[in-house]
Amino acid sequence: MDDTSIEFTLTDGSSDYWSFIIENHLPEALERVAGLLKEAVRDQNGCIVTPTVTPRKVRFKGQQKAAYRFVFCVTDQLEATTEDVVRHRCHNRRCINPDHLEIGSKEDNKRDDWEVLANGLDFGLL
Ligand SMILES: [Zn+2]
Repeated sequence: MDDTSIEFTLTDGSSDYWSFIIENHLPEALERVAGLLKEAVRDQNGCIVTPTVTPRKVRFKGQQKAAYRFVFCVTDQLEATTEDVVRHRCHNRRCINPDHLEIGSKEDNKRDDWEVLANGLDFGLL
């Protein structure tokens, strides 16, 4: 068992933060996303991986967020709540490719982990 599920249990503020960013600072936020994607490296699975050991963090407008969550919420202009978890369909926690991310519940996330444990990861599904 790896520690994937731990990272997903983020409590990084309410949807108020995201609506504030999306309504008032979207161009700047998108620029930051572009910068993050530019720093990262695309691997053979199509993952865009940050050059960090642990999932990269981003500080923006007074709050620190996991980079993948930042990229996903800004790109999709999604006002995520604390109940929403941003999931990695590729199960690479350092991946910030918006195409590999999706929103789900904590229960979805657990089920995902079980499926990977049972069946392995199928990159054809990404
Ligand atoms: Zn990925």
